[in-house]
Amino acid sequence: MRPAAGFFDRAPFILFWETTRACDLECKHCRANAEVDRDPDELTTDEGKALLDEAKAMGCPVVVLTGGDPAKRPDLVELVAHGKEIGLHMALTPSATPLVTPALLEELAEAGLARLAISLDSAIPGGHDGFRGVAGSWTRTFEILKDAKRLGLTTQVNTSVTPFNQHELETIAEQIAALEIELWGVFFIVPTGRAADSELLDANDVEAIMHRLASIAETAPFDIKTTAAPHYRRVLLERQVERKEIVGIADEIGRAPRSVNDGQGICFVARNGDIYPSGFLPVHCGNVREEGLTATYRDHPFFKELRDTEALEGKCGACSFRRVCGGSRARAYAVHGRAMAEEPACAYVPRGYESAAGAG
Ligand code: SF4
Repeated sequence: MRPAAGFFDRAPFILFWETTRACDLECKHCRANAEVDRDPDELTTDEGKALLDEAKAMGCPVVVLTGGDPAKRPDLVELVAHGKEIGLHMALTPSATPLVTPALLEELAEAGLARLAISLDSAIPGGHDGFRGVAGSWTRTFEILKDAKRLGLTTQVNTSVTPFNQHELETIAEQIAALEIELWGVFFIVPTGRAADSELLDANDVEAIMHRLASIAETAPFDIKTTAAPHYRRVLLERQVERKEIVGIADEIGRAPRSVNDGQGICFVARNGDIYPSGFLPVHCGNVREEGLTATYRDHPFFKELRDTEALEGKCGACSFRRVCGGSRARAYAVHGRAMAEEPACAYVPRGYESAAGAG
C-alpha cells in the first residue's frame, strides 16, 4: 500500500479518528487530556459512519480508531465492520484495560479489524504502570496481545520513548519479538496535552536512539516505524549509503516516496468532529459537521502550507532530505510556535548550512 506521488494532496494516507476522549488510564504524556466520561458532543454512530464513507470516497486507505480509549464506545464493533465493508483498512488503538476482553477481540476480528495496536512503555511492570497511571496495565498489555494473536489479529506495539525509558528499548524489543507482533511503533514525544518538557529528548539523544532502532531493525522479526520523527528515514538512508547499499543520497531521494507527516498523509479528527493536521498539532482547521473532511484536508491554507516543502524554514528548508523527511511539524510548532520552523529534535546539519546559519 504505497501512495503515488501527489497522493497526499488529495487524501491522507492515515486518518486518525479520536472516537472518544474517555479513558480509564491516566497516562502522563496523554495527548488527549483524557477523562473518565464520554463527551456528549462526540460524533454519533451515524456521523462516524459518514466520516468513514467520506474518508473512503476521498481515497484514504487507512483509518485508525483512537482515543481516549475507543473501547469506551459501545458501537466500536459496528464502526469497524462498517469501515471494513466499504473497503477501509481499519486499525484500533485501545487502552490496556479490562474493557478489552477476549470476547470483544473476537467480535473485532470477525468484524474485519486489520490491526490492533497497544502501548508498552517499559520492560518492567512498575515502569509501564507508573507511566500509564494505573497498576496492572503492563500485565493487561501482554494478555491483550496474546489474546489478539490467538485470534489471528495483526498486532502492533506502540512505545513512547522518553529520557526515563530510552535505555530499555533493546529489552522491550526482545519482549515483543517473543509475542510475534508485526510492527513496533516508536513515538517520540511532542510537548502537547499532558506531555511535559521533562519527557523530551534532545536532538543528540534522538539521533543515538534512531541508530539503535536501525540496528534492532536489522534482525528483528517485526518492522519498526517512528511517529513524530520522520528523520528516522534520513538515518536509514545514511546507513544504507555508508554500507554502499545505495549509490548516493541524491539518487535515493529522487526515488523515495515522501514519508507521512502532519497534514501531509496524516489527518486527525477529534471526538467532536474538529479537524487537525495531526493529533499533536493543535491548529483547528475545520469540522466534519461543517466544512467536511475532504475540503478541509485538500484546501485549508494551513494543510496546504504543511505540504509545501519549499516553505520549510531553517535547516529543514536547507536539507537535502526535506522531501523524504521534513521533520515533525507538530514538534516544530510546539517548540518554536511556527509549524514550518526547523525540527528541534534533529541533530543533522545539512552540508554548508552551518556557515549560512552562522551568517544569518
Ligand atoms: S534537518 Fe529537517 S529535513 Fe533534514 S533530516 Fe533533520 S528533520 Fe529532516
